[in-house]
Amino acid sequence: MSFDAERLAQPSLRTLRAYDPGHDLPALRKRFAAVLAELGSNENPLGPSPQAMEAAQRAIGEMHRYPDPRAGMLREALAEKFAVSAACLAFGNGSHELLMLLAQCFAGPHATVMRSQYGFAVFALATAASGAKPLCVPALSADDRQAPLGHDLEAMADALHDGVRLVYLANPNNPTGTWFSHDSLRAFLRRVPLDTLVVVDEAYGEYMQAPDLASAWTMHAEFPNLVVTRTFSKAYALAGLRAGYLLAHPSVTSVLERLRESFNLNHVAMTAATAALSDTQHLDISMSRNAVARDALAGELARRGYRTLPSQTNFLLMTLETLADPIEHHLIERGVVVRPMGGYGLPGTLRISIGTADENQRLLEALA
Ligand SMILES: *Cc1c(COP(=O)(O)O)cnc(C)c1O
Repeated sequence: MSFDAERLAQPSLRTLRAYDPGHDLPALRKRFAAVLAELGSNENPLGPSPQAMEAAQRAIGEMHRYPDPRAGMLREALAEKFAVSAACLAFGNGSHELLMLLAQCFAGPHATVMRSQYGFAVFALATAASGAKPLCVPALSADDRQAPLGHDLEAMADALHDGVRLVYLANPNNPTGTWFSHDSLRAFLRRVPLDTLVVVDEAYGEYMQAPDLASAWTMHAEFPNLVVTRTFSKAYALAGLRAGYLLAHPSVTSVLERLRESFNLNHVAMTAATAALSDTQHLDISMSRNAVARDALAGELARRGYRTLPSQTNFLLMTLETLADPIEHHLIERGVVVRPMGGYGLPGTLRISIGTADENQRLLEALA
C-alpha cells in the first residue's frame, strides 16, 4: 500500500493549502536585478531605521547565545511606550505566530472562532489549526460608502453566540485596506460577553491617520477581553527579522506564556526592534512619505480609470471590472510585482503596496 500522510492529518487541515508566496521572488530578483519593483508584500520601501541596522549588526556578534526568553529590553521599551505593566506584553516570531498561538490557547474543537469575510488570511489558518469551528461573517458590500468590503461589525455582533471563544478583527484590514471607526469598535465590544476574546490585529496601526481611528488598546481598561496585536514588519520595516507583539490583560499573556516557544523572538530581532522603536523620527518620515505617495498613486490610478478602495495602510486594493490575472502577468513581465487576491475570493482585485516614487512610477508605466 502506498503511503499518504494526507489521511493522517487533522481533519480541519484537509481543506487548507500551504502559503502561496505568489511569485518566485528570488528568481525575479535575478532576472530584473535593481529594476524589480517589489509591490507585493506591503513592506516599507524606505527600509528600517539606521539605528536599527546598527543595533542588528552589534547583536549578530552575540548569536552564539540563546536570546532572552523574556525579551526584557523590548518589553521594557514597549511597556513605557504604552504605559502598561510589563505583564501585558507577549512577543512573537512576527505577529503571525501570536495570532496562531491565541487560537491554540483559547479555542479548540468545542469552540467557535469568528472572523469577517476578506479578513486577514491567518485568522482562518489559526482557527483550523486549533480545530475550532470557523464562523465567517459576510463583509460589507462593495458599494458601502464607509468601508467597501470591510468588516460588518453589527452583523458580527448579531452572530455572536455562547460558543464563540475568539473573534479576529483587523483594523485596518489586509487585503482590503478598510477600517472601522473607534466608536463602532466600542459599540461592538459592548455587545461581546467577557468570556469571548476579541483580537484586534493592528499590523498597520502606525499608518492610521483618519480622525475616527485610534488604537483599540486605548479601551483596554474598559474591556479586559481585548487583545491587540502589532508588528515590526510593516511601518518599522523589519519584516525579515520577524518581530511581533501583543497587548492584553496579564491573565491572557499568562496563558499564552505556557505554550509560547521560549526563544521565538531572536536576539537580533529584539535588539533591532528596540532601536527601531526609539527612532520616532524615522517612523514619522516613513508615515508621511507613505501617505503622500499613496494618495498620489490613488489619484494617478483614478485618472487612468482604475478604482482603488480607501486605505489607511501602505497598500491600495485595486478593483477591476475583469479578472486580475492577465494584468498581473503583464506587470510581472515588466518587473513589477503586485498581488492578486483571488485566494481571498476577490478574483477581480490587485493589492499594490506603496513603493518608492520610482517604483510607483514604474507601476504606472507598466499599466499603460
Ligand atoms: C503583515 C500582516 C501581519 C503579520 O505580520 P508579521 O510579519 O507576522 O508580524 C498580520 N496581520 C496583518 C493584517 C498583516 O497584513
